Amino acid sequence: MRPLAEAAAEAADCVRCRLSETRTQVVFGVGNAEADLMFIGEAPGFHEDRQGEPFVGAAGQLLTRMLSEIGLERADVYIANILKCRPPGNRDPQPLEIDACTPWLVEQLSIIRPRLVVTLGNFATKFVLQTTRGITSMRGAVFDWQSRKVIPTYHPAAVLRGGERSRQFQELRDDFMFISRTLAQLQGQAESPNEVVEVPEAAEPIVVSAGEPDPDQLELF
Ligand code: URA
Repeated sequence: MRPLAEAAAEAADCVRCRLSETRTQVVFGVGNAEADLMFIGEAPGFHEDRQGEPFVGAAGQLLTRMLSEIGLERADVYIANILKCRPPGNRDPQPLEIDACTPWLVEQLSIIRPRLVVTLGNFATKFVLQTTRGITSMRGAVFDWQSRKVIPTYHPAAVLRGGERSRQFQELRDDFMFISRTLAQLQGQAESPNEVVEVPEAAEPIVVSAGEPDPDQLELF
């Protein structure tokens, strides 16, 4: 397995899809290459494209705030996106772009081997768990995926649209508390998984725990 920096250096010149023609730079990922916790978002926006770092705009500030509420800094985790280049006008990722780009994400997952993956929003959740289910019915639960655990939650940008008093905002907070408890539980277990990550297969994920976060349910894994 090559070092993450080597993969990042190769990705910097990526021309696997048309987004290479409009991007300012590739936004590969940021954080701790040995993190137990990895976040996957959708795609870089305007600020990320300029700065070369994921989640540095308004959605990123909310992500950073949620992390600090559970006692973590950005440097403690790894943050990446489904797409490494900004779609023009922040439009949705296209299937061909996802197919072209996600081998980078699969390689990142293989190198970092996080114990817990948090998917932010529909695009990341659908890719990782190969599901057609929407984020609202998936959030707040732990899913099994290739010897790892996955917790889907809302995309911070979607939560920002509803404002701090919205139900989604409180649910995002709840999910981060759940992420923190789940991570602590996983870190208390033996060795981290070391299998090479494979491209996700289309299969319904196994729900390990669902509904309201319940620490007792964590004993299931
Ligand atoms: N939204 C994302 O999904 N990723 C970013 O990096 C920024 C905003």
